[in-house]
Amino acid sequence: MSFNTTILTLFPDAFPGVLDLSVIGRARAQGLWSLETLNIRDFALDKHASVDDTPAGGGAGMVMRADVLAGAIDSVERGGRPLLYMSPRGKPLTQARIRQWSQGPGLIVLCGRFEGVDQRLLDSRDIEEVSIGDFVLAGGEIAAQGLIEACVRLLPDVLGASSSVAEESFEGGLLEYPHYTRPREFEGRSIPDVLLSGDHAKIKAWRRQKALELTRTRRPDLLPLKGDQAGSNPADKNKGKPQ
Ligand code: SAH
Repeated sequence: MSFNTTILTLFPDAFPGVLDLSVIGRARAQGLWSLETLNIRDFALDKHASVDDTPAGGGAGMVMRADVLAGAIDSVERGGRPLLYMSPRGKPLTQARIRQWSQGPGLIVLCGRFEGVDQRLLDSRDIEEVSIGDFVLAGGEIAAQGLIEACVRLLPDVLGASSSVAEESFEGGLLEYPHYTRPREFEGRSIPDVLLSGDHAKIKAWRRQKALELTRTRRPDLLPLKGDQAGSNPADKNKGKPQ
């Protein structure tokens, strides 16, 4: 079964973009996932092919028209796929959400431009707003590529060693431990001895310790609250919570 993506955008030339590179591009060539782009402008209703207009109530910028976008969206065969709108107002993406989508039939992704889209479009169609972080891009295309890349790399057979995914940042509720490779000495800095010891239990303990330290310093929000006895695995704190 393939993971099928449909992108609605004013800039179809932005695709496949980075999605054509390396393992993700190869996976598409192998038919593990598919990419279809629709140009929103093809659904314009007037002879000027306008897709946006001035905001009701005044103010800066332009707003994408609900009628044009509805035509584009309604032309897509949903096939049970979630319909997402990339938006800084959306819930920030999480790896858990990415994993859920990667286990489904695919995604339909609407990329905004200008000030965004008419609210009535979001209210009238079953659309989930999704943010890639608390900052503002000029358009949803890069955000959509990031989201799709994150989903596709989790599909079976896309990455070589699936165990490398299991240990990654966020998978166990922690940021990943630091990595080292050759040369053994770099500008006077050496690889930590434990990693060269061949003692796998010790290496595992060291990595877990480093992952905990990193998470505590950089992302304490990922750790269970003090006094919260959810267990040794901080990921437990999210178990059973609605997404
Ligand atoms: N006026 C809007 C920002 C519009 S930016 C606001 O203040 O909320 C134009 C488009 O870029 C958006 O419609 C959205 O599709 C995309 N975009 C911008 N920032 C994004 C983010 N953090 N995550 C996902 N999409 C984003």
